[in-house]
Amino acid sequence: MHRKTMIPVHEAIQRIIEQIPKLGKERVGILQAQGRVLGEDIFSSRNIPPWDNSAMDGYALRYPDIQKVSADNPVFLKVLSDLPAGRVFEGVVGPGQAVRIMTGAPLPEGTDTVVPVEETAKMEGRVKILSSLPLGSNIRRAGEDVQAGEKVLAEGMILRAPHMGMLASLRRSGIYVFQRPRVAILSTGDELLEIDEPWQEGKIINSNSYSMAGQVIECGGVPILLGIARDRLEELSAKMQEGLVADILITTGGVSVGDYDFVKGLLKEMGQMSFWKVAMRPGQPLAFGKIAGKPLFGLPGNPVSCMVSFEQFVRPALLKMAGFHHLFRPSLTAVLKEDISKKAGLTSFVRCRFFYERGVLYSSTTGEQGSGILSSMVKAHGFIVLPAEKTLLRAGEEVRGMLLDPYLFYTSKPTYLPE
Ligand code: AMP
Ligand code: MG
Repeated sequence: MHRKTMIPVHEAIQRIIEQIPKLGKERVGILQAQGRVLGEDIFSSRNIPPWDNSAMDGYALRYPDIQKVSADNPVFLKVLSDLPAGRVFEGVVGPGQAVRIMTGAPLPEGTDTVVPVEETAKMEGRVKILSSLPLGSNIRRAGEDVQAGEKVLAEGMILRAPHMGMLASLRRSGIYVFQRPRVAILSTGDELLEIDEPWQEGKIINSNSYSMAGQVIECGGVPILLGIARDRLEELSAKMQEGLVADILITTGGVSVGDYDFVKGLLKEMGQMSFWKVAMRPGQPLAFGKIAGKPLFGLPGNPVSCMVSFEQFVRPALLKMAGFHHLFRPSLTAVLKEDISKKAGLTSFVRCRFFYERGVLYSSTTGEQGSGILSSMVKAHGFIVLPAEKTLLRAGEEVRGMLLDPYLFYTSKPTYLPE
C-alpha cells in the first residue's frame, strides 16, 4: 500500500527546510519596518546617551561640598547658571558652586552629583542643600543604554515598537529588511464555488484559499489568489504555471489517490517531487517538490487538513524564506483533561484549548475532530501533538502542545489590571 511511502512529520519538515532558499533584502523607511525581519546587523556609532546627564531636576554640584550636610547642618552654594535640557554649560563648576540643572541636560564640567530640587531651598543667587547623597547620585552615564561600537540589533529579528525607537535613536531612517514571500494560492476541484458565485446545489464553497491567505499574512507573506482550477490537467497545469510568478506555490485538494487527483502527477511532470504523504492526522496526503526552482506544496483539500499542514510545513518554510531565525511555534507541556485515542503510526494534531486551573496548565480538545470541521480550528488555541507510536492517552497525562493563537488563549481568561 501507500504506507511505505509515508515519512514522519519531523523528516518532512527537515527535508522542506533544507530546500527553501532565503529571499533577498530591500531597503525600507523606518515606519515601513514595523513587523518586518531585519536584514542587517545594526551597530551603534556612538554612545547613548552621548554624555553624562542629569536624571532629575535639581542642582549639579561637587560631592565634597555636600558630604557632611544634614537638615541641621545645611550648606549654601552659589548658583552659576540655569541649565535647561538641550544646552551645554560652558564653564567649570568649582568648590562652593552649583548649577541649576533640568532632567536630560549634560552634566557641567567639575560636577559629579545631582541633588534633586525637593532636597533644596532656593535663595537669591544661592541654593541651600538640606541633605547629603552618595557620590554620583541622579546621573545617567554616557553609554549606559548603548555603547559606541555595540551590536544593538541582529539580522533575523522581527522589528517591533522598541526596535523602531532604537533605530530612531541611532539615526537610522532607512534599513534593510528581508523581502516578504509572495505566495501563490490555488484551490482545485470541480465541486468548488467562489464565495460570491450564485449558489449551486451540491457545490462546496472555496474556503481554503481564504484560510491559507490568512495564514500567509499571519507569517508576513503576501498572498496571491489564483482562484480555482477545475479537475482537468490542462487547466491545473496552466494555473500552476501562472503561480510561478510567486516565490512559492501552494495548492489545495487533488493530492490524494482519487480519479481526479492530478497535483502529484503534474508536479512530477513539470518539476521534481521530493516526497508525498506524511505520517500524520489530519493531513496525510501532502506533496512537496519544486517546479522551475520554485517550491510547491500540494496540501490536502479538507479544510482542517489544509490548515494543519500549512501550519506544520508551509509556515516554517515561509519564515525561513523571510529571514526569521525562529521557525517554530512555542511548545507547551499541558495535562490532558480527557482520554484521547488515536491511530498508531500517525502523529496526531488535536485541536485544543489551553487553560490554567490553580496554576496547572491543562488542555482540552475543541470537540469533534473531523478533517472537515473548520470550527475546531476557529475555537483552537493550538494543537495537542500526540506521538505516532501512541494509541491511547489518559486524562491526567502530560502531553506536548503547540500554541497557535496567544490572543485567544489570553482573552479567554480573566485579565489583570495592575493596581
Ligand atoms: P480532495 O482532496 O480534492 O478530494 O478534497 C477533499 C475534500 O476537501 C473535498 O471533497 C472538499 O469537500 C474539500 N475541499 C477541497 N478543496 C476545498 C477548498 N478549496 N475549500 C473548501 N473545501 C475544500
Ligand atoms: Mg478535489
